[in-house]
Amino acid sequence: MTSLPSKFGPYGGQFVPETLMPALDELERVYCAARADPAFQAEFEGLLAAYVGRPTPVTYAARLSARLGGARIYLKREDLAHTGAHKINNALGQGLLVKRMGKRRIVAETGAGQHGVAAATVAALLGLECVVYMGTIDIARQQPNVFRMKLLGAEVRPVTSGSQTLKDAINEAIRDWVTNVRDTHYLLGSALGPHPYPTMVRDFQSVIGREARAQIVAAAGRLPDACVACVGGGSNAIGLFQGFRADEDVALIGVEAGGAGLESGRHAARFGDPSRGRLGVIHGTRTFVLQDADGQIAETHSVSAGLDYAAVGPEHALLRDQERAFYTAATDAEALAAFQLLCETEGIIPALESAHAVAEAVKRAPTMRPDQILLVNLSGRGDKDLDTVMRELGM
Ligand SMILES: *Cc1c(COP(=O)(O)O)cnc(C)c1O
Repeated sequence: MTSLPSKFGPYGGQFVPETLMPALDELERVYCAARADPAFQAEFEGLLAAYVGRPTPVTYAARLSARLGGARIYLKREDLAHTGAHKINNALGQGLLVKRMGKRRIVAETGAGQHGVAAATVAALLGLECVVYMGTIDIARQQPNVFRMKLLGAEVRPVTSGSQTLKDAINEAIRDWVTNVRDTHYLLGSALGPHPYPTMVRDFQSVIGREARAQIVAAAGRLPDACVACVGGGSNAIGLFQGFRADEDVALIGVEAGGAGLESGRHAARFGDPSRGRLGVIHGTRTFVLQDADGQIAETHSVSAGLDYAAVGPEHALLRDQERAFYTAATDAEALAAFQLLCETEGIIPALESAHAVAEAVKRAPTMRPDQILLVNLSGRGDKDLDTVMRELGM
């Protein structure tokens, strides 16, 4: 196979300037060959095991489950992957493709800093030059990750345009890619952007769902009743969902950033706020985008930088239309409460992004029976968020 479907129903596609089409075509061609090549898959899986530390475990959250009453809660522990989040799975897959394409330089965008760290890590591992674009607001709230990227040999370029967050960093990374496309790959960090990125990123992250399905069956003797994951661009969620998509009795639930509350307008709930989350085109793909009345990209807000983005991955829009997945939101306050609860009941400090998924478990588990199972994707660990949490909690 030399090409893949470029759309998810009415969503997705390739809305890019003509100058980028050869690069997208090349990427699709190389990716199609790689996904069918056992040697590529063996190299990828070998590094996922020996370098990333996979498989990450599934942990039964006994005290959290007892505290909430109702369903038994299990956690898929992406926080234990090298660099502390699921982002490394995708960065490694794309890094190996860069080698295959014979390129020597990667550019990446980052919001929370986790994808920038993952990209810089893979660049160091594979001997690639790495430039990471990051909004100045995100730089201020994610200092430890900025320092990590520098230690790993990457150049962090501050982005001062627009809202100085993730969407502006993506614009700059695309600009760099267009200019330097001959020797440069754009290592996009979520299930977003023009085809083939959403499909490719989903495939690289599907290891989460594949492992989790086998692990939960081994641990609990059956499939979960529901899988829950936070949704920024949507890569950790789509990676988890992929493992259970064919299991029609397993509910799939994505959790967006409810920020200061949906009615406040200060959030990143593309699906959750129908008055502003409408179909649009952003960063090369057609999907749900938060917009103002004139169709301008709306300002977003979340306590977690990784969920603070105006658009959602196009495949999630299709899963929602099909009612195969359902989407809800957790506010900043709910995520912070869930963050503290997980720390105190399980000895696990989650990323603030992941705390949004835990917040949904806090709401949902008590409505379920004790023989039911809730599987929560813990997409990352919270070390990067300690400053934010101390400030928010007044500690
Ligand atoms: C980046 C990030 C997210 C959000 O990105 P998705 O593509 O939606 O997964 C969630 N959790 C953590 C820990 C992250 O670093």
